[in-house]
Amino acid sequence: MITRTSISVQAVTTATWPEQLRDAIRDPQLLLKTLGLDSSLLPGATQGHALFSIRVPHAYLARIRHGDPDDPLLRQVLPIGAETDAIEGFVTDPLAEAEHTPRPGLIHKYHNRVLLIGSGACAINCRYCFRRHFPYGDNLPSKAQWQDILDYIRSDSNIIEAILSGGDPLASSDKRLAWLADELASITHLKRLRVHTRLPVVIPERVDSHLLAWLSRSRLQKIMVLHINHANEIDEAVRTACQRLKEAGVTLFNQSVILRGVNDSVPALAALSEALFEAGILPYYLHAFDPVAGAAHFDVGDDEAIALVDALRAELPGFLMPRLVREIPGENSKTPLF
Ligand code: SF4
Repeated sequence: MITRTSISVQAVTTATWPEQLRDAIRDPQLLLKTLGLDSSLLPGATQGHALFSIRVPHAYLARIRHGDPDDPLLRQVLPIGAETDAIEGFVTDPLAEAEHTPRPGLIHKYHNRVLLIGSGACAINCRYCFRRHFPYGDNLPSKAQWQDILDYIRSDSNIIEAILSGGDPLASSDKRLAWLADELASITHLKRLRVHTRLPVVIPERVDSHLLAWLSRSRLQKIMVLHINHANEIDEAVRTACQRLKEAGVTLFNQSVILRGVNDSVPALAALSEALFEAGILPYYLHAFDPVAGAAHFDVGDDEAIALVDALRAELPGFLMPRLVREIPGENSKTPLF
C-alpha cells in the first residue's frame, strides 16, 4: 500500500530546490493529515503555529515515520501548545545578539570573526530555534548596506573568518551568494568562509552545480556546519550532497542541540555521531539548550546533558565525541560544560 508519505517522496525527486521551498507544508492540519496523525494534536499545533509558523519541505517529511507522534524528526517541526507557555528565564534573545550588531545584518561577538545574516528565510522552521524571535526584518541589508558591511570587514584586519548564517543563508539565490562570496574573497586578510545551514539536510537537492560553482572557485577555505540533530535526518540523498560538497573542497562539521524527545539518550547521540561520520561529517559541537521563549519543553538541563555526554564516552571513539558547550552572552568563546 502506498502511503501519503511515499507519494511525497516520489514528488520531491523531480522537483528543484526552489520548487521544494515553495511547496513546503505550511499548514498544521495538512501536516497531521499527510503523516496520518491524530487530529487531537491540531489545537496545540495551531496555537504554536500562530507564534512561529510551520514550514516542512517534502524531502524532510519523507523521513518522518507515518503515524508516529513521537518521531524525533516530527518533534523538531510540529508546533505544540506548550510553546505558548511563559517560562521564567526563557527569553526572546537568549544570546543577547542585539548588543553585538554594529550594522544591520552583521553580528560581531568574537574579535576575529563576524557573522553575516545571509537570509531571513529558512527551508524548515525548527521549533527549538534560538532565533525564532529574531528581527529579520531589521537585519536584511540592502546592496548599499552590504557594501558598508564589507567595508567594516575590510577595515579590521583582525577579522579572518566570515560566517554566513541566518535564517538559512542557502535559502538565498546562488547569484546573490556568489556575489557575496567573491566580495569576501577579495578581502585579503580573510582566510575562511564558514556557512551554517540546514538546507543540504532538509532539501539535499540544494547542493546543485550552481552552489558548487561559487564554492569551488573561492580562494577562501570553505567550511560548512550542518545542523543535524538525529541520525534519521541522514539518508542517501544527504550522503550524496555531502560527498559533492567535499569534492568542492568544503570541510564538513556538524553541530547539534541536545533536545528533549529528539536526541536525549546515549543510543540516539551515539547513532548520530556514527551516521555523521559515515556521511563524511565530523561531529563538532553539542549545544546545551539556549533558553529561547516558546521552546522550554526541549530543555534537558545542564546536569542531564553532562551525564549523557559522560556516558556517551563509553560508546564512541574520541574523534566522534562532540564537545558539549553553552554559549553565554558576553563570553569570548563557547563555554565547555564537560
Ligand atoms: S535558523 Fe536554523 S534552526 Fe532556526 S529555524 Fe532556520 S534552519 Fe531551523
